[in-house]
Amino acid sequence: MARIVMKFGGTSMAGLERIRAAAERVKREAEAGNEVAVVVSAMAGETDRLVNFCREAAPLHDSSEYDVVVSSGEQVTAGLLAIVLQSMGLQARSWLGWQMPLHTSPTHAAARIRGMATERVVESMQAGVIATIPGFQGLAETGRVTTLGRGGSDTSAVAVAAALKADRCDIYTDVDGVYTTDPRIVPRARKLEKITFEEMLELASVGAKVLQTRSVELAMKEKVKLRVLSSFRDAPGTDIVSEEEIGHLMEDQLITGIAYSRDEAEVTLTRVADKPGAVAAIFKPLAKHEVNVDMIIQNIADAEGRTDVTFTIARSEIPRVMEMLAAAREEIGYENLSYDDKVSKLSVVGVGMKSHTGVASTMFSALGERGINIASISTSEIKISVLIAEEYIELAVRVLHSAYGLDSPDVDETA
Ligand code: ASP
Ligand code: MG
Repeated sequence: MARIVMKFGGTSMAGLERIRAAAERVKREAEAGNEVAVVVSAMAGETDRLVNFCREAAPLHDSSEYDVVVSSGEQVTAGLLAIVLQSMGLQARSWLGWQMPLHTSPTHAAARIRGMATERVVESMQAGVIATIPGFQGLAETGRVTTLGRGGSDTSAVAVAAALKADRCDIYTDVDGVYTTDPRIVPRARKLEKITFEEMLELASVGAKVLQTRSVELAMKEKVKLRVLSSFRDAPGTDIVSEEEIGHLMEDQLITGIAYSRDEAEVTLTRVADKPGAVAAIFKPLAKHEVNVDMIIQNIADAEGRTDVTFTIARSEIPRVMEMLAAAREEIGYENLSYDDKVSKLSVVGVGMKSHTGVASTMFSALGERGINIASISTSEIKISVLIAEEYIELAVRVLHSAYGLDSPDVDETA
């Protein structure tokens, strides 16, 4: 017997037919003798609908009331799932965020989980009652309902699994696991049997959106055994594990996955004074306005002690950032300010990089042979990212997927 947390996303909760299918999966686990808690998302599209109601009601609305409205989507699915489970002859009851309670910070619409009272839930589960728990919502010490931020149900599931000391946390979603890259671009992408938390975080941060990043961070910190599975097909999913657990796979697998993000832009300031404080003056206003800066490159100073500084940001930040830097022109002392918003980022990720050399040179020669120019490069211990022209991104992903030997042998591309 094990104690497990199952989590179903919005597409798995979209309508009664799908809720019944999810309930069948829950039933299987319960009938195998497991204690089960199920964390659910709102029906797909429902949270957007609720958010829009708030916006229409008043563009600038009270965020504590926003939370009351948007948390209702999960209340509906948690209740419906309990009803469906009961109709199948199982015992089930829902536990809303404020009932358990699941404690959060009071930051409405972006609350952080602080902990969860487990005694009553555990008692009920031990008596054979399946717990259905709405994701995304909690209770602040102010006594008010909070929500965790969009996509927060994954994090709820991991927090519940950690608090209940569950043996594992199975995330059922509309993809059947984590792939070496986006299968829509590379038909030969392979489903990974295992991936480390660190790799998952690197891939998520560059656009592979299977799980909310926060949930992976929390699982890593709390040592929760995570698995991503399909709600629609019976197929083995992907285990997200610690580096120790990945063991032998690391030896022969250099690169685990390739992610990309189109939504990048590059900003360049020319002839910035090469003196202490000049670069700080560039990034100070950006930090103040919480602009996320990614790659930063500073060139060697010219004979007059001036240097070009280039950095990347999300494309949508361009208008704001151009304005901030124009305003700070005096202080920074640059000559020209420009941007390129037709760039994309590609990252190869793998813990195998720690113990192997040649990863970067494989990348540069593979891209070079195809005439793909690299605008900037950044690295971490397990990741190399390059910025290239947007038009080449799909080609680059395919080329590197082959170059690192990630192609699945059993896909017939002529089919
Ligand atoms: N329903 C919420 C959202 O759409 C939370 C979630 O599904 O993870 O953001
Ligand atoms: Mg989700």
